[in-house]
Order: sequence, then C-alpha cells, then structure tokens
Amino acid sequence: MFDALAERLDSAWKKLRGQDKITDSNIQDALKDVRRALLEADVNLQVVKEFVAEVGEQAQGSQVLSGVRPGEQFVKIVHDELVKVMGESNVPLAVADSAPTIVLMAGLQGTGKTTATAKLALHLRKENRSALMVATDVYRPAAIDQLKTLGQQIEVPVFELGSDADPVEIARQGVEYAKTQGVDTVIIDTAGRLQIDQDMMAELARIKAVVQPHDTLLVVDAMTGQEAATLTQTFNEQIGISGAILTKLDGDSRGGAALSIRRISGAPIKFVGVGEKVEALQPFYPERMASRILGMGDVLTLVEKAQEEFDIADAEKMQQKIMEAKFDFTDFLKQTRLMKNMGSLGGLAKLIPGMNKISQEQLEQGEQQLKRSEAMINSMTTEERKNPEVLASSPSRRRRIAKGSGHSEKDVMRLVGDFQKMRGMMKQMGQGSFPGMGGMPGM
Ligand code: GDP
Repeated sequence: MFDALAERLDSAWKKLRGQDKITDSNIQDALKDVRRALLEADVNLQVVKEFVAEVGEQAQGSQVLSGVRPGEQFVKIVHDELVKVMGESNVPLAVADSAPTIVLMAGLQGTGKTTATAKLALHLRKENRSALMVATDVYRPAAIDQLKTLGQQIEVPVFELGSDADPVEIARQGVEYAKTQGVDTVIIDTAGRLQIDQDMMAELARIKAVVQPHDTLLVVDAMTGQEAATLTQTFNEQIGISGAILTKLDGDSRGGAALSIRRISGAPIKFVGVGEKVEALQPFYPERMASRILGMGDVLTLVEKAQEEFDIADAEKMQQKIMEAKFDFTDFLKQTRLMKNMGSLGGLAKLIPGMNKISQEQLEQGEQQLKRSEAMINSMTTEERKNPEVLASSPSRRRRIAKGSGHSEKDVMRLVGDFQKMRGMMKQMGQGSFPGMGGMPGM
C-alpha cells in the first residue's frame, strides 16, 4: 500500500547517502535502458555508442531533483539532448533571395521521393507559394506519369521532356521554364535506385552542379533502420545534402533514423511523411521525435510532474523528520495528497516503464487502500496524528475513528500497526542501518 511512498523514501534515503548527484554507478541501469531504446528505435550502433557516452559524461555530477531517481532524471537529460541534437526548432525549407527557390530531391527508389515531391508542392501551395515539379526520372517511364498524376491531383504543373532526354538537361530547362513563369519554388524529382549506385550518384552530382539548388533534401524511409547511417554518409559525401525528409513515419518505425541522419550529416530533418496521401506531410518536431525514439514509458512526464509538484524545501523538511523519526500521520497525509496531485496511481503506473504490468485490480486495490487510510487519518485528532502510540493503547479512540471514517476498528488497528512499523524502520534508517524498504510489512 505504501509502495509509492516507499519509493519516495527510498530516493530520500539515497539522497542522505550522498546519491543526490548523477554518477556513473547510479545511472548504470538507465544507461542500459537508454542504449537499448535507441537501438530498438534503429539508431545506428556507432551513433548510439557515441551519443550515450557523451550524454553520460555531461550528466555526471548533475544535481538530482527531489522526488525522482538519478536514472529517471538521466533519461530526461538524454531526451533533452536528443532534442538539442535533432535541432531545437523546426528548420523550414530554404527560400532563395530571388525566385525561384530550387529544391533537389535525392534518395533511393521506393523511399517515397516522388510522393514527397508532390507533398512539398502542395505544402507550398497552401502557403500561397507557386510550385513547379520537374520529372527527371527517365529510367522508369512510370515515374514521369506518377508525378503528372500527382500534379493534376494537387493542381501543380509538371515539367518534363519525356523519357529520352538527358536528366541534367531536363533539370536545367525546368529551372529556366520556372523563371519565365515567375514560379516561386521548383522541386526536382530525381531517379533513385534500389541501392546506392555510382551512376545515380554521378548523375545527381551533375544535376546539382548545373541547377545549384538552395536545398538538397535526402528522402529517407524511416523503416530503413541501421542502413540510414551509411546512406546519409554516402549521399552527403558525394552530393552534399542540406536537409532530409523522413517518410513512412505512420508505420511502426520508432524513427531512430532521424538521429542517425542528423548526427552523421549535421543536416536537419525538415519534414516527415506520415501517410500515402499527398496531404500527409508534417514539419519535423524534434521534441515529438525524441519521445518516440526513447519510447520509454513516459518517464519524462513523470520527471516533469515531480519537478512541478515536489517542493524542495518540503522534501528537506521531510528528510529531517525521517532522520529524527518524527514522520507522523500528517506527513503521511501530505505525501498521499502529493501523489494524488500527480495523478491517480493507475496514471502514475502507466508512466513508469515496467509498472504497466501491474494489474488493474492491484492498482484499484492500492488506490482504495490509500483512500481508506486518508479517511481514517482525517478522523484523527491532531494529537493522534502526531502520536500513533495513543491509538495503540486506546480502544475508544480507535472506535471513534472507525465510526467517523466508516471503517472497522480492525482497519484502524492495521493502519496504526503498519505505520508504527514504518516509523521504526525510519528510525533505523536515520541511525544509519538500512533494512530495505521493499520488505516493509503490509505495504
Ligand atoms: P520513390 O520511388 O522514392 O519516388 O517512391 P514513391 O513516391 O513512389 O513511394 C513509394 C511507395 O511508398 C508508394 O506506395 C507511396 O504511396 C508510399 N509512401 C510514400 N510516402 C509514404 C509515407 O509517408 N507513408 C506511407 N505509409 N507510405 C508512403
């Protein structure tokens, strides 16, 4: 019944023992969890290693907030660092000083490059900017048709010279045509291959040299996983990219590719694709992606809630009381209310990884028990709250409390008994021996 309280005391105890700073040893488990979460999210192994080592080092010596464990706080630090690395705010599409802005799309076949071209064009149109799409994939005749169909759908013109023309020439003429038409942004769709291919790279490099794009966006399928790192590196070295679009985020992928792309190329993810429809494009939000990549219950919300709810001065007073074994029913009530402010036990449990295995029944029992305790404590006089001993020796007081709170005398006895045992343990803790809160009887 006092699990959450015990955890809080547990961290208070750690603090007494000098565990109020993040150290190598008190975040070992969290480090492992973070590493696993990043790998499961398909962040490249090398990126994971470097990133975790850096953040771990940075975090050393950080002061731990009251009410959370060093490991939990570390996860929050990792999250914030992820946000920082992936770019603290959204980086929009480049805008040329004088129109047209030229955007070059690059990427492997099947990643969603053509779809992303149309999505971007629609996005611009919604901002009242005119767009022209240029079809340079002459190797797959269907690709030109695909772009034309999409163009009709979103009412954006497509420039093409059929499938016999040279892609570099198509791109060059496309840009010239855009100038004559006063188009705001030209988006050049290019050919992709199933795998990285030197001919493809060479062609892309030539197109880039001729049209001098303001933005070169690498389109990466979020499901690419570990490969995203090599892919980014190759494209960046051979072509040079200024941004990326991560597609198919509507699938199961946790989006770890976003971190790999950013770390390896330094280029920001500008948009994400979240569906097959042309409307399914969103600006990239580092905050959301960081939470998705970590996917660790929601420790972060928990830490934030603790930050809001747990008053440091209060915590220190509480510790002092624990040291002196003066923790009484009033303090207990305060702790219970604090937990209530943080949400129901069920809500809290959902936020803690691993805790969601606790059955609904157990949670409800725990909450019921807390409510019962609260009702009984509310029926106590100030003196009784301070000195549970007077209750142990007075059946008439117990009867009064039982009646007042709508519980049985036995319930009151149990509460008093549990509380006394807990105080006994606190006393031992205060004297320096630590019997282990987990074994607290009846809690
Ligand atoms: P390209 O070869 O890179 O030009 O790829 P396409 O644009 O032809 O897209 C390949 C497939 O992926 C098509 O079936 C698209 O409908 C699909 N696709 C593209 N973007 C997304 C996305 O964000 N989510 C989902 N679920 N499918 C997408």
